[in-house]
Amino acid sequence: KILNPAARGQVTQDLSENIILTTVDDLHNWARLSSLWPLLYGTACCFIEFAALIGSRFDFDRFGLVPRSSPRQADLIITAGTITMKMAPALVRLYEEMPDPKYVIAMGACTITGGMFSSDSTTAVRGVDKLIPVDVYIPGCPPRPEAIFDAIIKLRKKVSNETIQERSKVMEQTHRYYSTPH
Ligand code: SF4
Repeated sequence: KILNPAARGQVTQDLSENIILTTVDDLHNWARLSSLWPLLYGTACCFIEFAALIGSRFDFDRFGLVPRSSPRQADLIITAGTITMKMAPALVRLYEEMPDPKYVIAMGACTITGGMFSSDSTTAVRGVDKLIPVDVYIPGCPPRPEAIFDAIIKLRKKVSNETIQERSKVMEQTHRYYSTPH
């Protein structure tokens, strides 16, 4: 018990300056949004713009984004380029091999709608969201690296606003979808 009012004020000030209060969700989200690791995945010309981000001019790493070559080390996939029917099972498998919680950014007209292949091609998938759940879309042909940054910022906002339970529910629904025969 602190009887001296001056000492009590000092203790209150010391506490407010040295103790940080937070929730488990906020701490968990802060750690996740500062270390989103994208899988290196590119199937066509959009990937050239994505690759430009890795260089020193755009300095992708300052967002904590460290591109990975293995799906087991990635929690983000940026689908950069046309997705063909032949590639579709491999993309789904890569997505399934990524640990939860995981996110998807669809980059470019081809991956979002089939792009210039959407009208007469029999081999292009008309929308990657028919295969895996997409969190953020980047329109364009090709989108500039700045647009990818914009998508990353949108994704970080999404991550920072969700709770562990909400994300677990999304992941549960996704696993249920993939375990059901189509
Ligand atoms: Fe190439 Fe344009 Fe398709 Fe991107 S959207 S893969 S740049 S044709």
